[in-house]
Amino acid sequence: VALAAFAFGKTYVVGTSADFPPFEYVENGEFKGFDMDLIRAIADEMGFNIKIVDMSFDSLIAALVSGNLDIVIAGMTITAEREAVVDFSKPYWTADQSIIVKEDSDYTVTVLFGKHDIGVQTGTTGDLWVEENLVKTKILTGKFKRYDTFVLALTDLINGNVDAIVLDSPVAERFAETRPVKIVGIIVTGEEYGIAVREGNKELLNLINEGIQRLKENGKLGEIVEKYFK
Ligand code: GLN
Repeated sequence: VALAAFAFGKTYVVGTSADFPPFEYVENGEFKGFDMDLIRAIADEMGFNIKIVDMSFDSLIAALVSGNLDIVIAGMTITAEREAVVDFSKPYWTADQSIIVKEDSDYTVTVLFGKHDIGVQTGTTGDLWVEENLVKTKILTGKFKRYDTFVLALTDLINGNVDAIVLDSPVAERFAETRPVKIVGIIVTGEEYGIAVREGNKELLNLINEGIQRLKENGKLGEIVEKYFK
């Protein structure tokens, strides 16, 4: 009751990066996807309103910290670096990293080694993984290309301007179904997605965690999973 009283009628600004299907994407001018349904369902359940704002993934944390956003939901992995500046909800999804190449290429997982060009989205866990494990170690000797959005990375991959992209496994699977690309390897990172709020914003964090819990118990979370991952 106290939680609902705190939230009732308030509008929170939610930031996302809508090029990450099936979690967030734009279709017919509307924000769609697992995360979009999840945050709308939490808002309904807990009695608050939301306004969704789209920006590049790499700007989300800064926009949250500066107060331009109240909530970030963007398939965002809970990492120690991010935990240092924002607070995360309980995890709601797990993922690994996948390596994707053009559908008609002969590349295998060894595309990550030697003189190949590898792409990532700036500021993602895929970016960090490639930097730490392939670039710093000089295992990769080709170009390391960072893109503002996955759409740009995919376009370059399909046009043959980059040899492989490293990105979250559920999103790689969706792209492999809908674009001329294929998965040639999985990097098991076991990362967990959380919803972020400003550091110390306990009321809103409790509200979100309570919302997730209620949606688990009343079956609505299961319905959203079914809708996007059947
Ligand atoms: N899960 C990855 C991360 O948090 C990628 C998220 C994204 O690109 N939307 O860095």
